[in-house]
Amino acid sequence: MKESLSLEIIQQNVKTCKKCELCTTRKNAVPGIGNESADIVFVGEAPGKNEDLYGEPFIGTAGKRLDDALENAGLTRNNVYITNIVKCRPPNNRVPNDTEKSMCNNYLEDELKIINPKIICLLGNTTFSSILGGKEISKNHGKIVSKNNRTYFITFHPAATIYNQKLGEVFKNDIKKLVNELQKIKHMN
Ligand code: SF4
Repeated sequence: MKESLSLEIIQQNVKTCKKCELCTTRKNAVPGIGNESADIVFVGEAPGKNEDLYGEPFIGTAGKRLDDALENAGLTRNNVYITNIVKCRPPNNRVPNDTEKSMCNNYLEDELKIINPKIICLLGNTTFSSILGGKEISKNHGKIVSKNNRTYFITFHPAATIYNQKLGEVFKNDIKKLVNELQKIKHMN
């Protein structure tokens, strides 16, 4: 029943989900992970190779970039919740299609309803366009957007920073800005 929905139940449902074609090519579905009382939820695009192998989000090199940026801003993973718009790896890391995103959307919606974060941080162009219909992340990163009683912060996907040191610094600065914006929101409430 909806009233008893919990993050644990969502995780179990994701792990056994067969709602879209990605269930036929995944090794493991990758539910979100983190603090149920988090003020910030990070939303990426989809699991990659390592995440698919181990069933956990952001554990490869991109995950390390995110951890470094969190630490630089005075946070750890224990403070936040991390998930993806699509919970199973698309073959060869292709961008998830509209059917896959639509079939998987209820899991993200349920995660957000349960956690009710103060800010949702959208990581990368696919997430930005899927959730806010946005484009050109290079022009919009670091911005706050309010929509349907939710507050979003836009930045690059940490994977984009792996071979681009300059972008890595921009990403770290964005995450610091995100934490500052969170403090402002907390002071207002
Ligand atoms: S991507 Fe989402 S909807 Fe598709 S099988 Fe995985 S968990 Fe289910």
